[in-house]
Amino acid sequence: MKFKYTWNIVRRMIAMVLVLGMVPGMAACGAGNNQKQMVEQQDFLLNTVCNLKLQEWEGTYEEGEALAVQAFDLARELENKMSRTVAGSDIDRINQAAGQPVEITDSRVVDVLDKSISYGELSGGKFDITVGKLVGMWNFSSGEAVVPEEEKIRQEVLHVGYENLIIEAGESLLETPGEEHWYVTLDDPQAHLDLGAIAKGYIVDQVSGFLAENGVTRGIVDFGGNISCIGTKADGSPWLIGIKRPVSATGTEVGENQLVGVVQVEPNCSAVTSGTYERKFEQDGVLYHHILDPETGYPCDTDVSGVTIIGSNPTDCDALSTICLLLGKDKGMALIESLGDAEAVFITNDGEIHCSSGVKFEAVQ
Ligand code: ADP
Ligand code: MG
Repeated sequence: MKFKYTWNIVRRMIAMVLVLGMVPGMAACGAGNNQKQMVEQQDFLLNTVCNLKLQEWEGTYEEGEALAVQAFDLARELENKMSRTVAGSDIDRINQAAGQPVEITDSRVVDVLDKSISYGELSGGKFDITVGKLVGMWNFSSGEAVVPEEEKIRQEVLHVGYENLIIEAGESLLETPGEEHWYVTLDDPQAHLDLGAIAKGYIVDQVSGFLAENGVTRGIVDFGGNISCIGTKADGSPWLIGIKRPVSATGTEVGENQLVGVVQVEPNCSAVTSGTYERKFEQDGVLYHHILDPETGYPCDTDVSGVTIIGSNPTDCDALSTICLLLGKDKGMALIESLGDAEAVFITNDGEIHCSSGVKFEAVQ
């Protein structure tokens, strides 16, 4: 594999490997019923380190390896449709269309857009995928980010509004006449979409579904902290996922690779973490993180430094983790408690841990 690792990326890789390695039983190599060695593959996709671990599957070791390769191919295919920064992706075509309808032929892209609109509504507009231009201006992933000009931020905020995203079903004029396709219009020529808060979860869902459909009965999909657990651990007990201790609010990186605890994830369920410590930079003594308040265009002011959502669907967990960070601990917790199918572990800026009522969390002393 040939990647251009920046120092930030290397540090994220080390942190993630440590997290997974430290969870008891989680990396235990081996051997399901058929005594095969575990397949472990890593790739750099979606601007993050992605890991696949297959512990039990139908077929030979080589077939397991081939499945993992196909799973990464599927993830790359979806990234190439959903990434704002891939020229010619469906999202790029919508962004470049300057308010004109764009034909979308892949229902998976439409699914993500549909869900994003629902989460815009559920969050009272805090979750808004039309922050694309702002995300581009802040450019957190570049490793060279600086605070954009105030006036430019003010201008771009005027064009944020998921209400401008219109999805219509229709007959294809272009590709295969007669089949149903969709027309997506971003009804503000200045606005751009960015799926950074939800696409990873969706892609993890697709990848774990692909693996399960192809005979994998035990394994972990972990794309940059978006984790889906297939089956159980080898002893039949649920997977335990480590939660990293967030960097302190002052930015001191003490204990970066330590765990605050482990959370239990039921078979075929997910755990997704968002943190203000993940993509960030410091300028003039101020820490800027990558989750933006759509009203101000600046990193959201939040008392949460990290939040892990546990639930049955990684797409929902991904969107909810970002939303809980945007809402803060009290409103985020109230939202989680109001939903049937999600649990949360919040870590606030003061280092305190707050668990929702149904979470199975064990603190590490
Ligand atoms: P990560 O990408 O580190 O896993 P999140 O899932 O929380 O973290 O997503 C953060 C990303 O979502 C940002 O990097 C950006 O691309 C996008 N984003 C930032 N602010 C918002 C927002 N208010 N609503 C929706 N997406 C956002
Ligand atoms: Mg998210």
